[in-house]
Amino acid sequence: MRHEKNTLPSGAVPTNLLALDEGEMGRFVQQFGWPRYRTYQILRWLYQRRTKDINQMTDLSQSQRAALASQATISRAVSCTVFRSIDHTRKLVLTLSDGLTVETVLIPDEDRLTLCVSTQVGCTLDCGFCLTGTMGLKRNLKPFEIMEQVLTAQDHLGPSERITNLVFMGMGEPLANMEALSEAIRRLTNKPWGLGWSPRRITVSTAGLAARLKDIPPLGVNLAISLNATTDDQRASLMPAVNRIASLKTLLAACRRYPLPPTRRLTFEYVLLAGVNDQADDARRLTKLVRGVACKINLIPFNEFPGSPFRRPSERDISTFQTIVRQAGLDVFVRKSRGRDVLGACGQLGNLSPEYAARALTQIESRC
Ligand code: SAH
Repeated sequence: MRHEKNTLPSGAVPTNLLALDEGEMGRFVQQFGWPRYRTYQILRWLYQRRTKDINQMTDLSQSQRAALASQATISRAVSCTVFRSIDHTRKLVLTLSDGLTVETVLIPDEDRLTLCVSTQVGCTLDCGFCLTGTMGLKRNLKPFEIMEQVLTAQDHLGPSERITNLVFMGMGEPLANMEALSEAIRRLTNKPWGLGWSPRRITVSTAGLAARLKDIPPLGVNLAISLNATTDDQRASLMPAVNRIASLKTLLAACRRYPLPPTRRLTFEYVLLAGVNDQADDARRLTKLVRGVACKINLIPFNEFPGSPFRRPSERDISTFQTIVRQAGLDVFVRKSRGRDVLGACGQLGNLSPEYAARALTQIESRC
């Protein structure tokens, strides 16, 4: 159907262009009777030039822009607050149209600039060491809300900055929001009109939804698995929900079946909790569990948050754990903890009580 008038029927809501995937955009553009290449012009404005105003789409005529603006909007986040860490990590808190907030973190490290992106408000899972887990699930993010984090982070970059890596390690369990995750990755990696990133620069991290690992290889991105425990008892107490869905045996079997190209490896993440899973026996069991899987291991010393019963191990215990794993012939790294002072480190994203957040964060915010 072709729009004859440049106005929406009363009560109709304008279409958010960012909410449309490529096919939907094609059909939307067709309604105006425009040629197919207009679809790609509009998509390029949205993702490559990050325009926030239909009027800036200067390769459309003025009357075409007016026609488009009469039916559509570009709805970006309602607001964004930036918290800057003393280590230059920046946490962006975006307010969505329904008032919920979502967090994304820009982490500079030598020649890399990693963006850590959220896929849910809150989380489906209930891992006891993770602040996001204590919020419960508020809702899944839509593809455009995942993209919003990337576009807003890009808007905040300095002139010489460029995001080099993107990790889906923010709030939420990415594999519990698979459709939106896949669509966001399509927009990130699409070369003709999207951000054109290589999928090798993108890593999806899962707490271990074993049955869904098979959905990742078609996307071409890297996969990280948060193991965090070496026995089912330990995992059931630390990560009860996900361990009910898939035991360690089931998860490791899915990892062994995972089709990896010859140059690629899985990453296993392991949060080190003092006195809980950081002992020599844990390290030895870890090396046995992952034997035969092409992988590297990232140790993440626990990042503390108010109310958590867990503690960060001493540097000595971290180093002993790493040495045992390394001596078994595995590549093992200790993840530097970044942005802890703005609660932007792993497991620190999410809503704290308003009183604590005011005490912990206001001062830092005012330094921006
Ligand atoms: N749900 C996904 C992605 C979000 S968590 C997952 O579980 O992988 C990203 C990483 O942070 C995971 O490896 C998780 O185990 C780790 N993590 C969570 N809370 C943490 C905390 N308080 N300190 C350190 N790492 C934490």
